[in-house]
Amino acid sequence: CGIIGFTGHKPAQDILLDGLQRLEYRGYDSAGIAFFKDNGNHISIRKTAGKVNDLRAICDDENNSVTGIGHTRWATHGGVTNANAHPHKFGDVTLLHNGIIENYHELIKKYDLKGKLKSDTDTEVAAAVISLNYSGDPKAAIRAAVKELKGSFAFCIMFKGHPGEVYAVRNVSPLVAAHTDGEGSFIASDLTAFIEFSNSYFVVPEYHILTLKDEGITLEDLEGKTVEPEYLTVDWDV
Ligand code: GLU
Repeated sequence: CGIIGFTGHKPAQDILLDGLQRLEYRGYDSAGIAFFKDNGNHISIRKTAGKVNDLRAICDDENNSVTGIGHTRWATHGGVTNANAHPHKFGDVTLLHNGIIENYHELIKKYDLKGKLKSDTDTEVAAAVISLNYSGDPKAAIRAAVKELKGSFAFCIMFKGHPGEVYAVRNVSPLVAAHTDGEGSFIASDLTAFIEFSNSYFVVPEYHILTLKDEGITLEDLEGKTVEPEYLTVDWDV
């Protein structure tokens, strides 16, 4: 189970696929990516049960999108199938997740989602809850949804109509992030995914909303207060 997200001034696809390959050691059964297409009017998904190389085989070499998210799944809820692979799309929201949403049965009832889901995962329910709380302001939707979700999660989220932006939030499940002048903004479950580009990074604090853009990363708490990230530096030889 691994996550990588990127937005910047380089094509995202290779950064995502290479990053997922570096996260393979964590173990997984499926892999997928999502990226903005057509100047951001559309979000495309490629995903499959199997290995990152199987995902590579169904990706388009000509993909120049500079914004995307990638995932390796370790199935907890729902079998190992293409439909259950992440990312998941519900309405304007495309999302991927590491962790477990413990109250997803209650949320299916509360939001009347029976028959409206395309997978058997707990994750797609989280996508639906964010989507159904969304009316144009991504952070407001995430704030509202996160208050309803019980369990562990690291989410990377893209919203239709917000090209170039990747949002993230976590509880328990790990996420680290970094910005570089040369490439742009990165997020991942651990530093190995993007250490080729940056040896400094910060640990995303729990229940804080991260906004990744080409020019930088902003972090705020659930009250909307801006928080300065605390960068750490490693000196591994890579
Ligand atoms: N619970 C989610 C699923 O089964 C996410 C699993 C993971 O962490 O990769 O799809």
